[in-house]
Amino acid sequence: MAKRDYYEILGVSRDADDKEIKRAYRKLAMKYHPDRNPDDADAENKFKEASEAYDVLTDASKRGAYDQFGHAGVDGQAGGGFGGGGGGSFSDIFGDVFGDIFGGGARGRNMRGADLRYTLELDLEEAVKGTSVKIQVPGHVECEVCDGSGAEKGSRPEACSTCNGMGQVRMQQGFFTVQQACPTCRGAGKVIKNPCKVCHGAGRVEQQKTLSVKVPPGVDTGDRIRLSGEGEMGADGGMPGDLYVQIAVREHSIFTRDGRNLYCEVPISIGDAALGGELEVPTLDGRVKLKIPAETQTGKLFRLRNKGVSPVRGGPAGDLLCRVVVETPVKLTKRQKELLAEFQQTMDDNNGTNHAPKKTSWFEGVKSFFDEMKF
Ligand SMILES: [Zn+2]
Ligand SMILES: [Zn+2]
Repeated sequence: MAKRDYYEILGVSRDADDKEIKRAYRKLAMKYHPDRNPDDADAENKFKEASEAYDVLTDASKRGAYDQFGHAGVDGQAGGGFGGGGGGSFSDIFGDVFGDIFGGGARGRNMRGADLRYTLELDLEEAVKGTSVKIQVPGHVECEVCDGSGAEKGSRPEACSTCNGMGQVRMQQGFFTVQQACPTCRGAGKVIKNPCKVCHGAGRVEQQKTLSVKVPPGVDTGDRIRLSGEGEMGADGGMPGDLYVQIAVREHSIFTRDGRNLYCEVPISIGDAALGGELEVPTLDGRVKLKIPAETQTGKLFRLRNKGVSPVRGGPAGDLLCRVVVETPVKLTKRQKELLAEFQQTMDDNNGTNHAPKKTSWFEGVKSFFDEMKF
């Protein structure tokens, strides 16, 4: 698919300045952010598109290359971190653009926590009918001993003297003044002289947490459920990340699933196949009767309507498709062998009736194949 023009994506003119670009991006990002549009692929694409455009157009060298050579000038550079689908990779640009509205002072502070992924294995029945499960995920809680400050009881974190608590220092480099994270406090703006002995100054301790996950009916392998705010804790009061519960459905002993349809194989005897009969076949709601008409050939598919899966995103339920497989009898008694031989004899002396049309036409095909062969 051809990429859209970055200026067009953001709806700005080609001579737009950084401020205009930032404003345009902020508007789009607010509108299409995945948090506001859960499970909306179109919004997610628009969000990524806008982020990529923003990334390029606010970087002077990338913008120059793009203006001169178009997408070819920046491909492979832009948007590198956006493929994973995790929200964490957006935080950089986000902090940059939104920092000023949310009052997030120095860069490097108020970092959103990372998104986490948890693979949840389910049986087919659970995936089809929905379930509620408890999962244990690694997490952090505020350290009780220091109330999250990270400082030993009786003391408090102090403002960093290098940056006067700003978290940032200005450095003169030639004509330029460069602002960068304070090397003493690493941007935190404060230092802990006597760190808490329990959390070693982190202000939080690791603790497994138990979460309830409601799995809606119809999910399939690859679907994911987002638990907002259950990811890693943010740093310095930043928002926590999200937890993505990724569904993996275990193989089933009877059914295989393809989207909304279920398949199963049903062995039947030669007698039932030839004479017809009634079988009980399993469905996820219990047994149902399946009529096998006379002269059923092996491999025939029988469709049981609406006995498949109701998809999680809506739409009609699928079907259960039963493939009958005629089983050759084994461990025959002497008597059974005699009967079959006698039966076979009647098949051969057929009095003009063809009891095995498929076999006959196959042999005719083989015969003409050899007849046409020139040795
Ligand atoms: Zn400092
Ligand atoms: Zn502590």
